[in-house]
Amino acid sequence: MPFQVQPVKEFLVSPALPPAISRLGELAHNLLWSWDHTIRPLFRRLDPSLWKECHRNPVLMLGRIPQESLEKAAADPRYIALYQSACRRYDQYMSLPPDASRKDTMLVAYFSMEYGLSESLTIYSGGLGILSGDHLKAASDAGLNLVGIGLLYQKGYLQQYLNPDGWQTEKTPVNDFYTWPVQPALDANGNEILVEVKLPHGTCSIKVWRMKVGRVDLLLLDTNIPQNQNPEYRDITDQLYGGDNVTRIQQELVLGVGGLRALKALGLEPTVYHMNEGHSAFLALERIRLSMQENRLSFEEALESARGNNVFTTHTPVPAGIDMFDPGLVYEYLHGYCERYGVPFDKFLSLGQGGTDEQGDRFSMAVLALKTSAYRNAVSRLHGEVSQEMFHKLWPDLPIHEVPITPITNGVHLPTWLNGDLALLYDQYLAPDWRERYPEGSIWEQVPEIPNDELWEIRRRRKRRLINFVRERMSKRAQERRASSIEQRRLAELFDPEAFTIGFSRRFATYKRATLIFRDKERLKKILSNPQMPVQILVAGKAHPKDNPGKQFIREIVQLSRDPGFAKHVVFIEDYDIEVARELVHGVDLWLNNPRRGEEACGTSGMKAAMNGTLNLSILDGWFDEAYEVSGGWAIGDRDQYSSDMDDLHASSIYSQLENDILPLFYKGREEGVPHGWMQRVKQSLMNLSPGFNCQRMIHDYTTRFYEPAHIGFLAVRRDNFQPAREKASWYAQVERLWSQVSIEDSGDGPGACVLTGTPIQLRAAVRLAGLTPEDVRVEAVVGRVNPDGGLEDTSVITLPPLSEQSEAVVFGRDFVPHQTGRLGYTLRVSPNHCDDPLTRPCLSPVKWTRS
Ligand SMILES: *Cc1c(COP(=O)(O)O)cnc(C)c1O
Repeated sequence: MPFQVQPVKEFLVSPALPPAISRLGELAHNLLWSWDHTIRPLFRRLDPSLWKECHRNPVLMLGRIPQESLEKAAADPRYIALYQSACRRYDQYMSLPPDASRKDTMLVAYFSMEYGLSESLTIYSGGLGILSGDHLKAASDAGLNLVGIGLLYQKGYLQQYLNPDGWQTEKTPVNDFYTWPVQPALDANGNEILVEVKLPHGTCSIKVWRMKVGRVDLLLLDTNIPQNQNPEYRDITDQLYGGDNVTRIQQELVLGVGGLRALKALGLEPTVYHMNEGHSAFLALERIRLSMQENRLSFEEALESARGNNVFTTHTPVPAGIDMFDPGLVYEYLHGYCERYGVPFDKFLSLGQGGTDEQGDRFSMAVLALKTSAYRNAVSRLHGEVSQEMFHKLWPDLPIHEVPITPITNGVHLPTWLNGDLALLYDQYLAPDWRERYPEGSIWEQVPEIPNDELWEIRRRRKRRLINFVRERMSKRAQERRASSIEQRRLAELFDPEAFTIGFSRRFATYKRATLIFRDKERLKKILSNPQMPVQILVAGKAHPKDNPGKQFIREIVQLSRDPGFAKHVVFIEDYDIEVARELVHGVDLWLNNPRRGEEACGTSGMKAAMNGTLNLSILDGWFDEAYEVSGGWAIGDRDQYSSDMDDLHASSIYSQLENDILPLFYKGREEGVPHGWMQRVKQSLMNLSPGFNCQRMIHDYTTRFYEPAHIGFLAVRRDNFQPAREKASWYAQVERLWSQVSIEDSGDGPGACVLTGTPIQLRAAVRLAGLTPEDVRVEAVVGRVNPDGGLEDTSVITLPPLSEQSEAVVFGRDFVPHQTGRLGYTLRVSPNHCDDPLTRPCLSPVKWTRS
């Protein structure tokens, strides 16, 4: 370590707030300011340019603001009025009664590796983080009893700087938590909370911080503390997605195991655990071992009791994106833990194995999460199908479409992402309580009544604001680079506020095909520079530091943007973050999204665009596959599986739709002032997409479909000192022992070759139960259309109750009346009756089908 001057004493200095505005500090320390339109202006008004300089971080700002400015505000009656209304709003929000539908003792612990809450809090990298941040905000709005757990990284996620050649280089700013809205979490005696996780070379101490997100707490774990003398352990929470696999397994142990210990140290007892992506899946192990110790359960019993209230959300549609560890590394990090607590290491190891063909014998965090959670979901309908296929190996006896991974489509937090001008317009034209009731479709039925010219005026104002933002940002960066004054002047006049503007910004992962629109440069040049219908494109996005192909894409675009034919029409904005995202989705006319279909799990930037009146032009992937028909936007390509020969096709589809549909529609009627056809589509988008693709709807889905059943299930399983879990585990053991002898002996005579509609068909299965009871199994008929290949399609599953006992077998059956005509067929199957809900079927649950 280089020589450092060390302090002998440390102290914290807080701003001396005048009594009239003494609660500003309290307001600054609750992230409600990041989405509440009455609180945020309070800080901006104090000093607009300092507010910007502080990256909209009110805690930092209050630390820097001159005392005179505070005194001046305290003496200004208009400011005081604003302040008082903000305090009222804050108190009212914080004291809202919890959601009445909430089960009283329910507490959801939500784990995520990153949180994107505000641009100044750089503990996020991209979509996953934004989603987690929005999840907390929406949970707070809904009055859901939820606590978030994450890591507090010493260094922010990388900042992007382009060298003169256009090659991405990275800087990692050091975060100063004392200028952040976080505070050390304290125990009942007012002492800072420390928890520990044992690692191979010693104990790692973890400090717990608390961030207030409205009514929800986010606990953030920090290992960069003096108690850790081992510098390696101090660096565990150094950087999001930094380091190698060793850093990653350490981070994930801190998050999963340390996170659980932090909850306990704070006296919190969650009844539901939500793993947002597999990073936190070690929490399942810690829950198992705690249950083994505290409730004296066996490994299997503890697994069964933990599984029922674990929820897992997968976000990764490609196997390469999943965290996997070599068994040797897992052994090094976890066999001591397992030994200490009597957890059989081999059984634990196998919980992370055998999920996909690609993983070999490696330990997959997603597989661990799948095997230890009863509730599992993907993040869009299409991603649900992709995930079912990807993890089919875990339910090998089930048809792919029955693999128990269900979709809950992501949403974005509307109060965070909606621009203020549009919100004010809604105040005039929607129901007065639209800010609370926006997830209801009926609220949006008033949208057609908004006058086109008022809406258009807002779109134009936002675009002007965006272009000022871009100019300012570009010339500031040029100054930093010491670019020539000619270049600086050029950048300060960049872009035309009246021209049609396309936005494209996202992580530069190659599957997102950032350079697709530049595929045919001559054709694009013609489109961009048509004097009747000029077009400009704003591009932004970071590549992962190790992703050279992604960096090449960036360089290609930057170099193109200097080509005289493109220079006025293409800009690459450095350092994509929440602020850039916000300005872009508020201001551009068209949001372009062209991933390889099937590889975008959901995508949320297009939703942010949609609720601001920006139309989408997108591949039918992720969320847009569900939204396109009612979106007012345009689709690229169809619903076929991606193959590389589609790149040309997709590029030319972009060009021809721009030439023939999009640009004529936008520019038509501009002479009279307002393009009514375009505004019609904007309204269609606002009306149809705002109610469904927001985070409030998503929270509602999670709550009703997962959190509440998981909570109730947990209350049931822990009764009588976990007796139900013990019984379930011993039942499983019995089923496993006898299952090989269970078989469907006879599937009845069935119908004749021809039946008339309305004639009942007798479905019968004589099942040899080999010592199990009829209640131990579920016998089902799978009925459907016979396709030309001889397989069953459009199937439905019919449960058959037991009818009678024969000597060796029990007959299950039901009469079934087909309501369709044509070639139908059915087959029969028997599986252990392990749960009431087929969605929560455990991994590797056996199924036996009729032999044909
Ligand atoms: C919304 C957002 C994302 C995610 O957008 P995708 O459409 O999922 O790529 C990434 N980064 C930032 C800064 C965002 O605001």
